[in-house]
Amino acid sequence: MQLTNRKKELDRKPMNFWERLYLPAILKGMAITFSHIFKKNPTINYPEEKRPFSAVFRGVQILNRDEEGRERCTACGLCAVACPAEAITMEAAERQSGEEHLYREEKYAAKYEINMLRCIFCGLCEEACPKDAIYLTQTFAKANYARKGFIYDKDDLLIPNPVTDPEGYNKAKGKIGKEIK
Ligand code: SF4
Ligand code: SF4
Repeated sequence: MQLTNRKKELDRKPMNFWERLYLPAILKGMAITFSHIFKKNPTINYPEEKRPFSAVFRGVQILNRDEEGRERCTACGLCAVACPAEAITMEAAERQSGEEHLYREEKYAAKYEINMLRCIFCGLCEEACPKDAIYLTQTFAKANYARKGFIYDKDDLLIPNPVTDPEGYNKAKGKIGKEIK
């Protein structure tokens, strides 16, 4: 096989006059370079500029509230059971007296965490939730220096209260990219 390749190399057609000048090849290369100068630059100056995502893009989750600001999540655990990556953990607790305005049902998630290093953004948690409490948004997990920074808790996931912070609430809902309850 090696001998055949060697023979092919030796049989190579000799270069003609224009090929030996190298000028046509240089001009051809420059024409390609110049043709790219006038094309739209595909580079995005992130984070100032952001690429629009597809409507079906699935990113970081949010925990939803109802219009009165109460947490929708009742810590039923269905999202954790549906999660193929075992990324969701939670601790359920009873509603405490004096804080009824914060919670929708008797039970609520005192602790709710998603491990973003495990999450594969499949969206099964959203589909499994009977309370419309969890949604995947069109944003992705922020870079971090430590693994523990990728464990998102309620402080990271719960959207702002529409009663006390309507602007923050609408902004958070706007990241979802679809109509939600
Ligand atoms: S998107 Fe999928 S992998 Fe991520 S937390 Fe939800 S169910 Fe688990
Ligand atoms: S997010 Fe939904 S499915 Fe998960 S525990 Fe809360 S109510 Fe249940």
